[in-house]
Amino acid sequence: MDSIYDLDIEKMEEYFLSHNDKKFHADQLFSWLYDKRIESYGEISNIRKETLNIIQKEYSINRLKIEKVERDTDVNKYLFKLQDGEYIEAVLMRHDYGNSICISSQVGCNMGCRFCESGRRKKVRNLNTSEMVLQILQVEQDIKTRISHVVVMGIGEPFDNYFNVMTFIKIINHPKGLQIGSRHITVSTCGILPKIEEFMNFPYQVNLAISLHAPTDQLRTHLMPINKVYPLSDLISVLKKYIEKTNRRITFEYILLDGINDQEFHAKKLSELIKGMNAYVNLIPYNNTGNLGFNRSKTIQIMKFYDILKKNKINVTIRREFGSKISAACGQLRSKEENL
Ligand code: SAH
Repeated sequence: MDSIYDLDIEKMEEYFLSHNDKKFHADQLFSWLYDKRIESYGEISNIRKETLNIIQKEYSINRLKIEKVERDTDVNKYLFKLQDGEYIEAVLMRHDYGNSICISSQVGCNMGCRFCESGRRKKVRNLNTSEMVLQILQVEQDIKTRISHVVVMGIGEPFDNYFNVMTFIKIINHPKGLQIGSRHITVSTCGILPKIEEFMNFPYQVNLAISLHAPTDQLRTHLMPINKVYPLSDLISVLKKYIEKTNRRITFEYILLDGINDQEFHAKKLSELIKGMNAYVNLIPYNNTGNLGFNRSKTIQIMKFYDILKKNKINVTIRREFGSKISAACGQLRSKEENL
């Protein structure tokens, strides 16, 4: 059975209309689901029994199974077991500006980035919208606090599951849904260009982050096979178009891998590549996974890299580290659980 959390408000309105019922029931049902957080249809008092009888035959009010939680001072990591027995992860981070969650968008991932734990398992399937929405709802329930920021940076490539991710955004952003401001939502992609083009026209002010990780085609193709399909020059030109069209700043994520992409030469090349763009670089100290043969850059090298970008007038930050103790790097908890 489908989940009621798969439906955005328009779909729900269509549903009621097609059953000769009132469109405004969608608003009411959204409030029950996302404001009052009901767990069964029996709790609903302002929609006719006959209507509810029909809808509950087609859509369930369901929950994911929280298989395991690892807790640290400012980070919790959740392992969810899905109905078909597959595992996904979400990470909650407590910042001074609020709680943010990193959610998964697929079971496994087909992008094959060599440094990434998630890609060790090929994509099994896309997550349904409900499986993304429920990661947030259930973590909020666990911590008994609201989550203010959402990043789609967990397992999977969100632009390889475009439709469900966009429906997810509509639901979590909706005033009767989870009310997460669009500027507090970030989607991270390895650079699937046709979807970036489509995303330019998506009428929500959502942030876009690009996993760059290398400033030359040779190195990027080596680290990220997607670069063979969409090389750097094409990526940069589409991103320039995106910035012009949306007037929004983009984020480049750049993992620093010891001796691989962290040399002075790379910092200079990177500065040239993105010079003048309305963008900033988020340098990410690599979270060692132990399985893939990559290591985190030395702190002094990270600082050198940072300084070169600064000197070249590139906006740059170094990502604060969360959860290296509790295997919070993408896909690590699932790998441990399944002994991969
Ligand atoms: N597929 C999307 C989103 C998931 S990956 C994307 O490529 O952006 C989210 C981010 O985590 C990416 O920038 C990815 O490169 C990074 N990442 C993967 N493994 C990591 C690790 N061990 N340490 C630090 N960052 C990692």
